[in-house]
Amino acid sequence: MKKGNLFVVSGPSGAGKGTICAAYMNKHPEAFLSVSATTREPREGEIEGVHYHFIGEDEFKDRLSRGGFLEHTVYCGHYYGTPSDAAMEALESGRDVILEIESDGAMQVRSHYPEGVFIFVCPPSMEALEARLRGRGTEPDEVIAQRLEKAVQELGRAHKYNYLLLNDDVEAAVRRLEAIIDAERCYMPRNIGFVNDFIK
Ligand code: ADP
Ligand code: 5GP
Repeated sequence: MKKGNLFVVSGPSGAGKGTICAAYMNKHPEAFLSVSATTREPREGEIEGVHYHFIGEDEFKDRLSRGGFLEHTVYCGHYYGTPSDAAMEALESGRDVILEIESDGAMQVRSHYPEGVFIFVCPPSMEALEARLRGRGTEPDEVIAQRLEKAVQELGRAHKYNYLLLNDDVEAAVRRLEAIIDAERCYMPRNIGFVNDFIK
């Protein structure tokens, strides 16, 4: 069985990663969107096991010490991590896996899973990013300020990614994500097994 591909969708908070991935998953339920664990409090409307696994700091550290996370980070005072087992099982079963994570975690994945595809989601401008964070209305002003500061650091690492996914318009951005995922499926180095079987 051919393994699935790992897509890491990253970029600053408020860039639109969640919006784009949710729209992609609606159209492509055969893909696997990883559900992260976090120690932050749930926002209104967020559902346990759907948006995140909401866990306490002790449990997070315990899972971390047992190697339960593919990557993890501390972001604005809270732990976030990608549970290894579910993502690895999905890859082994041939499904494409999407991780929607910030850039520190993306770079950890890149160091031990270089065959992954690293996609940086970017809004058209810093002003648009701030307007989206404010418009989402989920964080107080001081947390928005912290997230904007983080955004500058994250943009400094954008050149380490394989693709820039401009999110000026949600539909166009989803089309770009579909194009990237399709192109990577056709990439010859990922299809050598097919060619060899064909020759046999
Ligand atoms: P992230 O997951 O990267 O933190 P979200 O998906 O939560 O970002 O998007 C942040 C806010 O911006 C949300 O309120 C969302 O509806 C809005 N948004 C996302 N994409 C666009 C876009 N292309 N144009 C305008 N607003 C957008
Ligand atoms: P939020 O609190 O807005 O849900 O998430 C804050 C930031 O953490 C976002 O950029 C989000 O993509 C990122 N994030 C969510 N889950 C993970 C994860 O498992 N690992 C890492 N490294 N970042 C994550």
